[in-house]
Amino acid sequence: MNQRFQSAIGPRGLKGSLLVCVLLLLGVLAGCESKETAVSDHASSPSSPVEAKDQSPNPPLVPRESDEPQHSAGHQESSSPPEPPSRQEDGPKVAPLPIQFQGPDAEAKQLQVDAEKLLAHGIRTIAGKRLILHTDIPLDDELRSLPEVFDKATTQFCDYFDVELQKVADWQVRACVIQDLEKFERAGLLPQVLPKFQHGYALGDRIFLKEQPSEYYRRHLLLHEGTHSFMLRFFQGAGPPWYMEGMAELLATHHWDGAKLTLNTFPADKNEVPFWGRVKIVKDDVAAQKGKMIEEVMQYGSNAHLNVEAYGWSWAAAKFLDQHPQFQAIFRKHIEHAGDSSGQFSISLVETYGEEWFKVRQEWQLFVMNMEYGYDIAREAIEDVEVQQYADLPSEQTFQVHADRGWQSTGLYVTQGMKIQVTATGRFVIYREQADDPEGTEGQAQSTVWESEAGGVSIRYHGGYPLGTLLVAIDNLQQTGLTGLLSTGAIGTGGDIEIPQDGVLYFRVNDSPAELAENQGNVEVKLSLLGQDQ
Ligand SMILES: [Zn+2]
Repeated sequence: MNQRFQSAIGPRGLKGSLLVCVLLLLGVLAGCESKETAVSDHASSPSSPVEAKDQSPNPPLVPRESDEPQHSAGHQESSSPPEPPSRQEDGPKVAPLPIQFQGPDAEAKQLQVDAEKLLAHGIRTIAGKRLILHTDIPLDDELRSLPEVFDKATTQFCDYFDVELQKVADWQVRACVIQDLEKFERAGLLPQVLPKFQHGYALGDRIFLKEQPSEYYRRHLLLHEGTHSFMLRFFQGAGPPWYMEGMAELLATHHWDGAKLTLNTFPADKNEVPFWGRVKIVKDDVAAQKGKMIEEVMQYGSNAHLNVEAYGWSWAAAKFLDQHPQFQAIFRKHIEHAGDSSGQFSISLVETYGEEWFKVRQEWQLFVMNMEYGYDIAREAIEDVEVQQYADLPSEQTFQVHADRGWQSTGLYVTQGMKIQVTATGRFVIYREQADDPEGTEGQAQSTVWESEAGGVSIRYHGGYPLGTLLVAIDNLQQTGLTGLLSTGAIGTGGDIEIPQDGVLYFRVNDSPAELAENQGNVEVKLSLLGQDQ
C-alpha cells in the first residue's frame, strides 16, 4: 500500500493571509462601552446571514454593517464625524470626552438615587455587598440571586487578577436590569452621558443591562460588564478592544448552579449557555471562509464590537491564550499593560512570546478550525519535542501516540520524497458512552467503553475519518500561511507513506477535541525509513 497524503480535513475556511505583527499598530481607542448581543444556537438565530466570501488577500478591518436596525452611540471610527452621545432628544448635549473614563464615571457616581422615586416607577432594589441591583422586572429567585453571584464573582476576579480582596473592600457596583428604559429615565437612574445601547453598558461602577432572552445570558452580561468595571477600576484600563472584550467574555462565561459559581468555563454544550453563541460565531465564520488569524483579531478597532462576531473572536483569542498551558503565563502577566489601549499592547504581547509565537499561530489555527463546545485546549496543546533530522538518525524509530491528546510531534524532520513504512499497533479507549440510568434503579449510570485500534471504529466519524484512526501530518513551524496540521492523512494500522513536503512529522488519534479526556491508552507507531526519491 502506498498512501499519499490527502487533504481530507483541509484548510477550508481560514484565510491564508499572514499578517505581519507590525501591522497590528492601529490607533485604537478603548472605552468602557460594550454592546453584547445575544446569539442563539437555534435555527431561528438572529445572527447575521452568511455573507459572500471575501476574496481580498487581507481582510477588511472595518466591521460590516450590523443587521440590527439601530446602532448605538459609542466609539466612532476616526473617519466618522464624532457624534455626541445623546439619549434624550431634549436633554443637554454632551460633547465626546477626550478622556474615556473619568467624565462619565464621575457623573455616574454623583447620580443620586431617590428611593421613593424608584418605588413610584415600579423599580425594585436588591442590595448585596458588591452589587446594588435596580430592576423593573418582577422579582424572582434568579434576580434575587444576582447579588450573591456578583459577590462570588468579585472573589474570583480577585483570584484571577491576583488582586488582594482588601484592595477591593469598598468596591460596589450599581446595576440596572431594564425592561422599560423610560421608567429608569423617569426615576433618574440613567446618567445623561449614557449613550443609546442595545444590551449592556458599563460606566465606571454603574452597569446598565437590558433584559435578555435567557437567565444565563442576563447573568453573563452582568458579569461581562462587571469585568469591565473591575478592570477599569483596578488596572486603570482594559487594553485594546480585542483584549477588553475578550477578557470580559472570558470571565463572564460561567456556570452557576444556584450555589456554586465558576467563571471562565468552556461550555460543554450549547444548552448550558442559551443565547451565548460564541462557539457558533467562530464555527459559522470558519464555514463561511471568514476564519481569522489571531493577529487579525488583535487588530479590531474601537468600533468592531458593534458586531456580535467580534465578541466571538475576541472570546476565542482570550480563551485560547488563557487556557493553553504553554501560553497562559505570558498572557496573564500582560494585564500589567492594561492601561495601554493602543496597538502597542498587542505588539508587546507578541514580542514577549518571541519564537513561541509560531506555536501560537499554529495551534490557534487548529483551535478555530476545529472549534467545538467543550474544546479541550490543554489536551490539544502540542508539547515541545526537540527536532532532529530523520536522515541523521537510525532508520527504525518508535513512538507512543497518546489517545487522550491532540497532535503529537515526533521531533523527526522529514524531507520531501522520503519513503517511510509505518506500523501502528495497540488498543486504546476512544469513547465512553454514557447510558441512561436503567429504569427502577438508582445506581450509577453505566458507561460503555469503546476500544479501538489504529484503524479506527467506523461507528462514529470525526472530520471525515472513523474515530480512533491514526492520522499523520507534516508541519513546518516557521512557514508562513496555514499550518500543515490542517492537511491530514489517515494512516490507520500502517502502510508506506511518501513525504510530500519538508517539515516535522506529527501523529494523533482521530477524535473530537471535546472528547479527549475519556480516552485512555496509546498507539505504538513504528517507523522505518525506506529511502528517498529525488
Ligand atoms: Zn464589553
